[in-house]
Amino acid sequence: MSTATIEDRLSSTARSFLTGPKGLLIDGEFRPAADGGLLAVVDPSTGERVTEVAFAGTADVDQAVASARAAFADGRWSALAPIEQSRRLERLAVLVEEHGAELAELETLDVGKPLAQSQWEMGLVADLLRYYAGWCTKIHGDVNPAGTDFLSYTLREPVGVCAGIIPWNFPLVMAAFKVGPALACGNTLILKPAEQTPLTALRFGELCLEAGIPAGVVNVLTGDGETTGNALVEHPGVDKIAFTGSTEVGRKIMVKAAGTLKKVSLELGGKSPSIIFADADLEAAATAAMQGIWTNAGQWCVAGSRLVVEQSIHDTFVDVLVQHSSQLKVGGGFDADSQMGPLISDEQLSRVSSYMEIGREEGAELALGGSRMQRPGYFVEPTVFTGVRNDMRIAQEEIFGPVAAVIPFGGDEEALRIGNGTDYGLAAAVWTRDVSRAHRAARALQAGQIWVNSYGDFDWSTPFGGYKQSGYGRELGKYSLDLYTQMKSVLVRL
Ligand code: ADP
Repeated sequence: MSTATIEDRLSSTARSFLTGPKGLLIDGEFRPAADGGLLAVVDPSTGERVTEVAFAGTADVDQAVASARAAFADGRWSALAPIEQSRRLERLAVLVEEHGAELAELETLDVGKPLAQSQWEMGLVADLLRYYAGWCTKIHGDVNPAGTDFLSYTLREPVGVCAGIIPWNFPLVMAAFKVGPALACGNTLILKPAEQTPLTALRFGELCLEAGIPAGVVNVLTGDGETTGNALVEHPGVDKIAFTGSTEVGRKIMVKAAGTLKKVSLELGGKSPSIIFADADLEAAATAAMQGIWTNAGQWCVAGSRLVVEQSIHDTFVDVLVQHSSQLKVGGGFDADSQMGPLISDEQLSRVSSYMEIGREEGAELALGGSRMQRPGYFVEPTVFTGVRNDMRIAQEEIFGPVAAVIPFGGDEEALRIGNGTDYGLAAAVWTRDVSRAHRAARALQAGQIWVNSYGDFDWSTPFGGYKQSGYGRELGKYSLDLYTQMKSVLVRL
C-alpha cells in the first residue's frame, strides 16, 4: 500500500488541473455554478476529499440548454462541411492521445482503478472518437422507389440538443460513447458525468474547445442525478437523453422523459451469465471469468457475475478460479502492482457488503473472500460464492462489485434456462468447443451481446445494448447513428 500523498502521485499537468478552478463548461466558458454550489471529489482509494467542482443547479441547466440550443439553431456545428467536422473530431482524438497520461491519472484518482487500466481506456476514448470522425462524411439518406410520378428521398437530420448522462465506472469512455456519435450526426450536447467522477469530463471539455469544436456544441455540467440529471431529463429544450447507468434510474428517466416525449436510449444493468460447458478450454474460461468479474472491481454493466458451470467440471473449474483469483493484487490505483482497485464510494461499499451478507444468509458457500478489507478506502475482497441457486438474490440482483456466483447445471437445456433466468439481458458468454452448440446457445440466449469463448470484448463497429430490463437502443457502429438522427421523407410530385 502506498503512503505517498496525492500530489506525489500525480504529474505536474494533472496536479495543476486539480488545483485550478473547475467550473461548468457552458457556451465555451468555464463558470462557477449560479448559486455557488460545489461538489466534493473523493479518492476511493483513501476515502479522502481531494478537490471540488461546481455543482450545476437548475439555473445552470437552463443556461447550458440555452447555449446548446443556440449552437444548434445557428448551425455552427451542424452546418459545417462534414469533412471539417470529421477533421475536428479527429483532432480531438489526437488531443486525447497527447494528454492520455494526464487524463489517465485523473481517471484513476476519481475511480480508483489501476493506472494501467485508465491508460488503456484513454486509448479506447481516442479510437472511439476517431471511429466516429470517420462517420461524419458517410451519413446520408436514400432515394426510394416510389414510382414514376414521384421523387421520394430521405434526409438524415440531427435530433437537436442531446443530454448524455453517464455513470462513474468508465467515465471518459462513456463520454466518448455519447459525444462521438452525437457530434458525428451534427447534434449539440450536454454531458453530465456522474457526481462521483467529474474530473476527466471537465478536462475533456477543454480539449473539445482546443480541437475547434465551437462554443456551446459540447457543454459539461457536473452535478448529481436528483438535481442536475433530473433537470436535464425534464427540460423542454432537450430533445434526446442518452443514458447509461442503473436499471432503477433508467426507469425513472423513462417516466420523466414522457412529459416532453423526448427520445430516450438506455443502456442499463445486467446479471450476465458465462455458461461453461465441460468441453470448454477450462484455463481460458477461468481466466476470462476472472476478467469478467474482477475488472473495475466488478463495477461494470457486463460484469460476468453468474458463472453457470457444467456439473462434471464444476469442482475443477472452481479450484482454478479460486487459485488464480486468490493471487489478485488488490490496491490503490497508483500502487504499481494493483490489479483491482476499490469500490467507488462508501455507499457502494455498503451495498456490496450487504450482498456478501445476503449470500451467506441464503446458504451459498464462500469459496473466496467475502469481506471488506481492513485498510482505508473502499476495498472489498474478490469474492466467489458456490452452491448458488439461480433464484437466490445474489444470482438475480445486480451487485456491481467483485462478487461471482457459481451455479452448477446438468444439461444444455438447464444451462440456457438458468442463463435466461433473470430480468436482465445485457450480455452472456458461452464456453464450448462444439461449434453447433455454441451457435444454438447464441440464438437461445436473451441478451444483446453474446460472447463465444471470450468475455468482455468490444468492437467499435459492433452494436451494443440490452434485451429485457437491460435497456434499449444500440450504441456503437452505424447503429448509434439511428439514436442521434431523425429521418425526414421528401415526396416530390413530378
Ligand atoms: P449507479 O447506480 O451506477 O451509481 P446511477 O444510475 O445512479 O448509477 O447514475 C448514473 C448517472 O445517472 C449519473 O450521472 C447520475 O448522476 C445520474 N442520475 C441518477 N439519478 C438520476 C435521475 N433521477 N435523473 C437523471 N439522472 C440521474
